[in-house]
Amino acid sequence: MSPTRLRIAGGTLYDPTNGVDGEVRDICIEDGRIVADLPPGAPTVDARGMVVMPGGVDIHSHLASSACNHGRRLLPEEHAADPAPAPALAPGVAPARSGTGGTLPSTFTAGYRYAGLGYTTVFDAAVAPVTARHTHAEFDDTPIVDGGFFVLLGNDEYLLRQVEAGERGRARDYAAWMLGATGAYAIKIVNAGGVQAWKSGQRNLTEIDQPLGASRVTPRAILETLTDAANELRLPHPVHIHCNNLGVPGNVATTLQTMEALDGRRAHYTHLQFHCYGKGSDGGWVSEADEVIKHVNANPLTSVDVGQVMFGPATTLSADGPVEYLLHASTGRKWVNIDVELETGCGIVPHDYHERSAVTALQWAVGLELFLLSEDPWRVVLSTDHPNGGSFLAYPALIQLLMDRAVRDSRLKRVNPRLLAGSAMADGLAREYTLNEIAIITRAGPARVLGLGHKGHLGIGADADVTVYARDADIARMFATPRYVVKGGELVVEEGQLRRAPAGRRLRLSPGYDAAVLRDLRRYFDAYGTVAFDNFPVRDLRDAPLEIG
Ligand SMILES: [Zn+2]
Repeated sequence: MSPTRLRIAGGTLYDPTNGVDGEVRDICIEDGRIVADLPPGAPTVDARGMVVMPGGVDIHSHLASSACNHGRRLLPEEHAADPAPAPALAPGVAPARSGTGGTLPSTFTAGYRYAGLGYTTVFDAAVAPVTARHTHAEFDDTPIVDGGFFVLLGNDEYLLRQVEAGERGRARDYAAWMLGATGAYAIKIVNAGGVQAWKSGQRNLTEIDQPLGASRVTPRAILETLTDAANELRLPHPVHIHCNNLGVPGNVATTLQTMEALDGRRAHYTHLQFHCYGKGSDGGWVSEADEVIKHVNANPLTSVDVGQVMFGPATTLSADGPVEYLLHASTGRKWVNIDVELETGCGIVPHDYHERSAVTALQWAVGLELFLLSEDPWRVVLSTDHPNGGSFLAYPALIQLLMDRAVRDSRLKRVNPRLLAGSAMADGLAREYTLNEIAIITRAGPARVLGLGHKGHLGIGADADVTVYARDADIARMFATPRYVVKGGELVVEEGQLRRAPAGRRLRLSPGYDAAVLRDLRRYFDAYGTVAFDNFPVRDLRDAPLEIG
């Protein structure tokens, strides 16, 4: 049996939420929570000389979804190249499972590897409503980490009908019902209206006032409707926005239009790096990270995650069908593209980020500029949009780039400089993140942006998710191999080895709504649904929804 009490003794603590920046303190744990003290003789981990942080919180990943499973099927060569034998867990715990790695690890391997990096909470950022059951089944099979997901709205036929009719109240009630019915944690918009446009023969919606077909529906109307819905429902996390026009030169105009449209409202913009490209005089790509981060810095209700590109293999996987089509067409790589009923799209294309590719080098620089020019780490948090910009396994290398200018500058010398004129990176950015700032962008900040009051910190009453790192001059190695990881009070990593793999909890919501929407929804499902209305909600989830405070 693992102890229900544990003292982590003598470590140097980084707990930004509670204003603790490098103080030597004990952490006491009882029954899965942080407590003020423990009686003498409680089991103790000796953390003297080590760095202690809350468990990592990944605000935006793709690890447990129908889309991930399509990606796994697409990439058998990755399975062959990265077999993952079952870890040698402690005697007496449930048997470990083997699996496969690569950019889309199998479920058990994803849980083991996230925990092995010191991450204890992970959100899947894009789940089509009708595939919610699949995501719950995958999370049930992903050990250790607490998990949740964001449900895709904004290209779904029912919502678009409400926007067309100006029925914003009904749209809000629908969104609330959908969160509860699917067991989701937040609302995700991907390329508002643009996916539906592309599926129905229009190329895309690349400007926010461009109408969808002959309707009055525009990206602006969709964005406003769902942003207001999330805020009126007092959801802990605001609407999570993947802007229109991802990944093409000149898209900075769309990004800034979107932000300006929603200024004054709480909103989160995801994988911002992919949305900060200008168009040079020759029509080529240039960095506009500076313009965008200035806007973020000046708007305290705005939060973002970066979506850093890391050199190496990746798999792009997105509800943004038209973007994935463009990537397939430009690279010739194998692909999947699916119309998810009347709800959304899904495209998958494997990709390699080479440092000698000028566009990749620009993307790499844009992400680092966003980090290094950010004035508020609480609102500019770490992601690679796993596995789109690179695997979550690249987080330690990314942390090293942020903390160690010498490593960053030597890397910069090796990349293709052709598109870097005008990038602040080319001029050299001196900033080096501190351990406290790393603790903010990888745990305290994402937890705050997600509205998870019991995560991302080590105050009394917080979930006992703790990571202990042995100091190492090689920052990447330090963050890749935590010495101890505690999840929910249980020691899962000991002496750098995964020893236990308890089930994680599901983080989901069930907001209230005006039940009048149900009659209309039932009619809609009767006419168009492939699943009967009464069968649509996911039932028998093992964890209760969180309170909305
Ligand atoms: Zn994503």
